[in-house]
This record gives sequence, C-alpha cells and structure tokens, in this order.
Amino acid sequence: MRRDGAEILENEDNIDFEDTRNIELVEFRVAQLLDALGQDIDSNEHIRQTPSRVASFLLESTANGFDGKDAESILDPIWPETYPEPTTIGGIKFSSLCPHHLIPFVGYATIGYHSNKKVVGLSKLPRLVHAHSKGLILQEKLTVDIVDSLVKILEPKGAAVHIEAEHSCMTIRGVKDRETLTTTSRFVGSMQKDPFRSEFLVIARRGGSRWER
Ligand SMILES: [Zn+2]
Repeated sequence: MRRDGAEILENEDNIDFEDTRNIELVEFRVAQLLDALGQDIDSNEHIRQTPSRVASFLLESTANGFDGKDAESILDPIWPETYPEPTTIGGIKFSSLCPHHLIPFVGYATIGYHSNKKVVGLSKLPRLVHAHSKGLILQEKLTVDIVDSLVKILEPKGAAVHIEAEHSCMTIRGVKDRETLTTTSRFVGSMQKDPFRSEFLVIARRGGSRWER
C-alpha cells in the first residue's frame, strides 16, 4: 500500500535518519524534494504517491546487483573444457542509472571470451552483465569491470566487451541529441588482435543494430 506524500512528510518523528536505504527515509527525502521543487503533493493526485514509487525505484536501481554473491558464483558452474575459438554473446539488453544525473541509460552489451581450460554456461554471461550494471555506474567502468571479472574467473586467452548505450541525460537535456549512442569497448589478450577482434566487433555491431532508428 503506497502512502501519500503528505502523510510521509508528517511522519518525520518516526524516521531513523541514520538508517540509510530504509524505504521510509528515502520516501521522506523524495517528498521533500518534490516540495522543494514547488510541487503540491496534496492537491495533485498524480504525484500524491510519487514519493513511494520513486523511493522503490531508486532503492531497486541502486541495489548491489550481486545480491550477496560474487562474480564467481554468478558464473558457476565452470567446466574444464577448451574451445579453440572465442565464444561471444551479443544483444544483451541492460539498463543502469547514470551516476552524474541519476537518469537511466539503456543499452546492449556484447561479451566474449577465448577459453583456456574453463568454459562457462552461456546464460551466465548475460547474468554477469546484469549484476555489474546495477547501481550507479559509469558506462566506461561497467565495460572494464565486466572484462576484469571474465579475466579473473575464467583465466581465458582473451576477453572482450562492447557496450552501446543511449544516455537519457544526453537525449532529454544538455545537447538534446536523440541520435547519440555512446560506445565503449575493451579487449584483452588474444581478443585484442585480429581476426578475433574484427570478428567480435561484427557481432557487437549486429547486437547494436537492434536499436530502432
Ligand atoms: Zn548523465
């Protein structure tokens, strides 16, 4: 049951201000923010329950995507096999919150590795992307963090990640350029060189072509 903004603002005495990530505190701060923006929480029925909705959204979006696990348990089980060519998965859709503006960015990731005695279940690779993309994270850091996890856990001959994302902070404010896509990529080991690098990029661009233009 969502609480009304006015009710939330009146509840100040019952809030534990030391207890961060407590929904009551986040709701209260969002209600204060709307109030500071001159929005009338009482009379506008569309924003009366907005503090509760936004608090839930923000708590979910900034939660740790690993949920108490580490990257190794996300990739588990790992089999002692070697495949001579890289394994690549493209079109992995994700969304995250830009740490500079708290506005969503959404994109497609392509992730690949060139195995060396360790092979992972294919469905685990998108899970790794989703775990890393939760929280407030820069696209650049997201790209590097995913590769670092692959390298650390799979000890592959090479690994690569390519991300194309649309940042709402660019499309709705600032330059207001609706056509911009931000691309980041990272290649390590055997994936740095051709033919693997070029082959990976062909797959990555195919993943990115899912954008509706
Ligand atoms: Zn931003």
